[in-house]
Amino acid sequence: MKKYKQLIVIAFCCLSVQFSYAEKPKIAATASMFSDMAKRIVGDKMDVELIVPVGGDPHLYKPTSKDAKLVANADLILKNGLTFEGWLSELIDNSGTKASVITITKGIAPIKSLVYDSPDPHAWMDAQNGLKYIENIKNGIVALDPDNTAFYEKNYAKYRKEVADLDFYILEQISTIPEAQRILITSHDAFQYYGKRYDVQLESVLGTSTDADVQTDDMINLVKVIRKSKVPAIFAETTINPKQMEQIAKDNGVVIGGTLYSDSIGQEGSDGDSYIKMLKANTDKIVAGLTGKLSDESTATTGTEGGFNWLSIVIVTLLLGAMLFMFRKLK
Ligand SMILES: [Zn+2]
Repeated sequence: MKKYKQLIVIAFCCLSVQFSYAEKPKIAATASMFSDMAKRIVGDKMDVELIVPVGGDPHLYKPTSKDAKLVANADLILKNGLTFEGWLSELIDNSGTKASVITITKGIAPIKSLVYDSPDPHAWMDAQNGLKYIENIKNGIVALDPDNTAFYEKNYAKYRKEVADLDFYILEQISTIPEAQRILITSHDAFQYYGKRYDVQLESVLGTSTDADVQTDDMINLVKVIRKSKVPAIFAETTINPKQMEQIAKDNGVVIGGTLYSDSIGQEGSDGDSYIKMLKANTDKIVAGLTGKLSDESTATTGTEGGFNWLSIVIVTLLLGAMLFMFRKLK
């Protein structure tokens, strides 16, 4: 009997070793919103890898040799298109990859950029467009691995309902802000799709890309809007240095209503660490900021999001030191 047990254990080990070495199909996504969407659909059947790291700025990204390897080994590449990843074609050409590349904004009506003669890339900010994104991603996945179609369709159906619920949640929440105060002032123009779908007027300091220089005229206009609309809050963004918005807020006697997620999801464990959570967190901050019901927490976290809070580390270290000192004295 003991011998049989041993044999079973050995067989199990061999099997699991084989499983862990079996190559899964690989998906490479340009930005974290898209890798998160893909992960929800593939479950454990494929590896999903990310090119621009969480918190990075896809507009200004410079691919590394690691990215070239990642793209070379991928079976499927997910891109937003609409001028979002200007660096991608060259990366794909140089890598010599045989992966199929799909544009996941296919079927979405693009909004024209306010600043450039090009489409605005930030279509994922509208959860209805999000439904189109996940449909395109699911179709790409099914084409890559048709044997597991039923599995992917099931995950997709569940996810689809969550994204549709999110769209409804945002519509409902934004409608609680008095119409005259429904003005969103941010550091770059990432919220046009959001504003159009959820009926929020937009003003931004930069253009649709983060590399644009701030025009003096834009600045004067912005100050006028803040004063005229009497909005209680303006907003920073996680992928952009918040200094400029902090200065504008200070100069105009308004507060920073928190840091919004625009071109990346949040770090793991943050309130925006998935596509759904990032849009929900944005909405909650916008509603709290524009209705003047800002919690202390959202103003306090500005500028520290995604990084270490050094002050807390120092305080904890000092407390531990004091406790150790007391303990020794008592002994
Ligand atoms: Zn952007």
